[in-house]
Amino acid sequence: MSRKKPAPATIAIHGGAGPHHPGDPVAPPLVQSVNFVQEVGTEAGLLYTRYGNTPNLERVQKRLAMLEGAEAALLLSSGMGATACAMLALLRPGDHLLAATSIYGGTLRLLTEEFTRHGVDVTLVDPHEPRAWRKRLRKETRAVFVETPVNPSCRVLDLRPISYLTKEVGLALVVDSTFASPVNLRPIEHGADVVIHSGTKYLNGHHDAMLGVVAGTEPFIQEVLQKMMVWGQAPDPFAAWLLERGLKTLDVRVRRQNDNAMRIANWCADRKEIRKVHYPGLLDHPDHEIARALMDGYGGMLAIELTAGAKGTERFLRRLKLFQHAASLGGVDSLVSEPRYTSHARLSSEARARAGVPDGFLRLSIGLEDADDLIADLEQALK
Ligand SMILES: *Cc1c(COP(=O)(O)O)cnc(C)c1O
Repeated sequence: MSRKKPAPATIAIHGGAGPHHPGDPVAPPLVQSVNFVQEVGTEAGLLYTRYGNTPNLERVQKRLAMLEGAEAALLLSSGMGATACAMLALLRPGDHLLAATSIYGGTLRLLTEEFTRHGVDVTLVDPHEPRAWRKRLRKETRAVFVETPVNPSCRVLDLRPISYLTKEVGLALVVDSTFASPVNLRPIEHGADVVIHSGTKYLNGHHDAMLGVVAGTEPFIQEVLQKMMVWGQAPDPFAAWLLERGLKTLDVRVRRQNDNAMRIANWCADRKEIRKVHYPGLLDHPDHEIARALMDGYGGMLAIELTAGAKGTERFLRRLKLFQHAASLGGVDSLVSEPRYTSHARLSSEARARAGVPDGFLRLSIGLEDADDLIADLEQALK
């Protein structure tokens, strides 16, 4: 039997670990130390938590790189820290960036309010418009930034035509694939150069650690590391230790979340109280074919639009017992959030409707509870 590359389930538990020795702990030790004794007379071997080179980080970074099929990966203190340092490593004053209009609210602010103040020109592009990227290319364009699946609309982008273009013109394609996790989507397989995750979400998966990940080529990750060190974006060892623990169950968690979300999306599609269900696993989702071609699972995130309007939606939320009304996503507990009070709070009701999140729009992060119990919870709250 020929040996193939290990599957994500195996990598998530063993990736990057050395040979076993008698007496080794099976659970990884937490080394909660900021500094380490250094040899005299050399600069080699300087370990420091802010440099991202202490034992818990090194272990998990190798594993994350293998999960994404990347040469290297770096762990940072949040998803925003990851995006900020990746873009600092890519862009110089005078550079032009093309970014999708539909990206995480914090990323949108970072790119259009912070990077623009530092001499980077940013053009927002509707990623569903044909030839949209090519039309806005300039000779200063350095990179394309997209997110897929999109938060909170659950649209899925076809990375293939975008990556043909970025490779043809020599741009970096950066993909935030937080919503998918590497179990469902590995953007590098579809031509991405840099992958970003909020490790706070599926990778850790237990609502208790804040982390970010950048994966890419070895030289690029070295550059991101230099930014992380001076902008102070390294995570604490304990957060890295929690992530390593969380990763062990990544594959079973995400598969269960995929299954639960598919069942819940199908159930919601038949309810008259629900005007619309946004889930790429549904046959009538506009990106179903793209998701089927690129992804190994349709994910644990879905969105619904209640017919009840703003007031009825509030009543529905107050009646839910299992789903907790909380921001963030991707963990073991099912959550529900209303973009009009979170990511889209700065917009007017009309602007939100234009952005695809009308009043009554709810984002569901499906957890690991029994799907029938989750459906029963939705049903009693809809009544
Ligand atoms: C949450 C999130 C982020 C930001 O991650 P933090 O860990 O909260 O900094 C970035 N992108 C997406 C798609 C997210 O959902």
